[in-house]
Amino acid sequence: MTPYCELGREELLELKKELTQKYEDAKGKGLKLDMSRGKPSTDQLDMTMPMMDIFSSHCDMKDDQGVDTRNYGCLEGIYSARKLLGDMLGVDPEHVIVFGTASLNVMYDSISRAYTHGIMGSTPWCRLEKVKFLCPAPGYDRHFSITEHFGIEMINIPMTMEGPDMDLVEEYVKDPAVKGIWCVPMYTNPMGITYSEEVCRRMADLSPAAEDFRVYWDNAYCVHHLYEDKQDTLPEILGMCKANGKEDMVLEFASTSKISFAGAGISCLAASKANLDWVKKSMTIQIISHDKINQLRHVRYFKNLDGIKEQMRKHANIMRPKFELVLETLERELGGLGIGTWTKPLGGYFISFDSMEGCAKAIYNKCKEAGVTLTTVGATYPYKKDPHDTNIRIAPSYPTLEELKITAELFTLCVKLASVEKLLETK
Ligand code: PMP
Repeated sequence: MTPYCELGREELLELKKELTQKYEDAKGKGLKLDMSRGKPSTDQLDMTMPMMDIFSSHCDMKDDQGVDTRNYGCLEGIYSARKLLGDMLGVDPEHVIVFGTASLNVMYDSISRAYTHGIMGSTPWCRLEKVKFLCPAPGYDRHFSITEHFGIEMINIPMTMEGPDMDLVEEYVKDPAVKGIWCVPMYTNPMGITYSEEVCRRMADLSPAAEDFRVYWDNAYCVHHLYEDKQDTLPEILGMCKANGKEDMVLEFASTSKISFAGAGISCLAASKANLDWVKKSMTIQIISHDKINQLRHVRYFKNLDGIKEQMRKHANIMRPKFELVLETLERELGGLGIGTWTKPLGGYFISFDSMEGCAKAIYNKCKEAGVTLTTVGATYPYKKDPHDTNIRIAPSYPTLEELKITAELFTLCVKLASVEKLLETK
């Protein structure tokens, strides 16, 4: 394979002609495929349908502590659900509150609460001149949307293969206006990498100037391995913070959205007692109790952490061939051409692709014109602005294998064409 940058103008023009012909043929097929969001596939959702048979009209709806899940009460969630999610995160159930069907609104509420009422007695952010947040990027677009929604200034923190650039993080937290950092520590969205032990150790030992600085640790993919024999591991952050006398510094979020049903699972916040007490103060105003029937359904279905792991093995059997197909296509079509790099995750929902500088938008547009929708380019950065126009999030979960084959091939074709056009601008 000759890297594209070594080709002369004539060769590039010839290549462009050939690729354009292929692209026009692909466009003629009238495709309509969506690879934009990390949604579980229908197969995965079907797999969990037996959960619907857990209850019948003559079922005992009390949990093992005698709580009638049909009635009000038990604000922090039934104990067995707190234990189930606590075990998943490696956290004591006493440090877990179980919320409703998804975690993003628990995160939103955490920011909203800090904004209107302040964290544990600190000045509410709405009264401050400036509030800033550290945003490791590429990252999860919906995190950035929350902070943008509250007018919080977002600061890009470059991601390395080990996690966020911690030298920068340690420097920025000296500014008292910096109130938090968004983290997806395991099988990150979109890179699929896991923070290293060293990054976690430094994160748990930050010395922020702001007393209300928190690490927003969104552990959405903590059990989402693709392989049995190759798995990333993540240190338990609450314990690490506690060992440093900084247990109030982290708020950890998770849900079963990609374990049971997306947006219809159970979610949780794991944190220090002091943080949980602060959260409960406003929770008592917000809600009388969450859906404990759904909590009990999850507990009876999964039983324990082994039940969750078993379920994740089944998810992996569906997800793994999709990841492998995309990765094989990228390697076969783009390997050695010097026009893109990509991550090779061992878990999670995404592959992160980086094109040559200034090409991502063009690739997105070409795919769109040919009927394939990708995640909006730029969305993986604060303010939807990718400074180098390189990053594209590939979400292989939702399409079928047949659809994915067509999509991945079209994607690589668009990468080649956009790269050739870019190179021709300067040759
Ligand atoms: N966090 C991350 C990192 C995610 O990728 C997602 C789903 N795409 C969520 C949170 C959303 O989770 P939930 O459905 O629990 O709100």
